[in-house]
Amino acid sequence: MTRFQFNIHARDGKARTGTIQMQRGEIRTPAFMPVGTAATVKAMKPETVRSIGADIILGNTYHLMLRPGAERVARLGGLHKFMNWDRPILTDSGGYQVMSLSDLRKITEEGVTFASHIDGSRHNLTPERSMEIQRLLGSDIVMAFDECPRADQPKDVIERSMLMSMRWAKRSREGFDSGEEHAARSALFGIQQGGLNEDLRSISAGKLQEIGFDGYAIGGLAVGEGQEAMFATLDFAPSQLPEDKPRYLMGVGKPDDLVGAVERGVDMFDCVLPSRSGRNGQAFTWSGPLNIRNAKHAEDTGPIDEDCTCSVCATYSRAYLHHLNKAGEILGAMLMTEHNLAFYQQLMAGMRAAIAEGRFAAFAAGFRARYFAGK
Ligand SMILES: [Zn+2]
Repeated sequence: MTRFQFNIHARDGKARTGTIQMQRGEIRTPAFMPVGTAATVKAMKPETVRSIGADIILGNTYHLMLRPGAERVARLGGLHKFMNWDRPILTDSGGYQVMSLSDLRKITEEGVTFASHIDGSRHNLTPERSMEIQRLLGSDIVMAFDECPRADQPKDVIERSMLMSMRWAKRSREGFDSGEEHAARSALFGIQQGGLNEDLRSISAGKLQEIGFDGYAIGGLAVGEGQEAMFATLDFAPSQLPEDKPRYLMGVGKPDDLVGAVERGVDMFDCVLPSRSGRNGQAFTWSGPLNIRNAKHAEDTGPIDEDCTCSVCATYSRAYLHHLNKAGEILGAMLMTEHNLAFYQQLMAGMRAAIAEGRFAAFAAGFRARYFAGK
């Protein structure tokens, strides 16, 4: 069986559409991966996540190592069986969330020691341990362990951090390869760092390619730098990475971020935004985001989005969703999440079709004209 095969079916400008073949299934690109932080895409049954068109979901090493624990998940047959998702799962390395969520962290060449945000217990995360955890979970796409510094740091700080992440990338490769049985059926992605700096990004891309990975992520963006700076970096970063391997922009983003990044040659995305926003009453539509709590929806019998093909829009009114949300009902969070994730999948499908048919520029222009019309 194919371990990992990326085929690009069509190109339009810098945008590409293709498929990744893996043992647990096919991933259509450009792909959006719903985030299943703690072995659940919050408020969604896995079968619903699949039914809206997601080919792959993301799991978080940091959360799962703390609760329920990677060894426990392994004893229970792995993450796929545990959570009832039989398609590919990408797991992050834990590096980013250790930096953003844990207390009392100490970073050395060896790795990171930190205190759990749940109970204060002390933990170690190194490239080797991150690979072991992702293997215990049974991840299909394993991410190299890296440090993700804030983009607004001085260049020498970003450079030192990037160089350490590249040494960690080599240790990640060796750790991953040592788990031979798992390595034979899964893939390992490296992560480019270097902040907003073209030279540092180029050095990082070169070092990663010397090591060799199945795919390459662009890390260190979507950390507060703003869309303009992110797009300026994406004007050069994807083309520094191998043309024939998938490029994954981590932690992005808003619908207009996704369109702009695909336009610049990115193939994969993940973000908590559609699910988290849904729980907070924000719905994404082809006409831009809306807040369902707004009083103007209180007696609106129409759907969230007339052109959305999801089951929520086919069945429930804005007025009902407004009521559920105002009343703090769990069903409100469930339905809003399902619509938002379905909308994201429809956006990705629209981009894939437009690239395949050589009309991506028109698609992107049409998307923006409508999405920002109300602003
Ligand atoms: Zn919908």
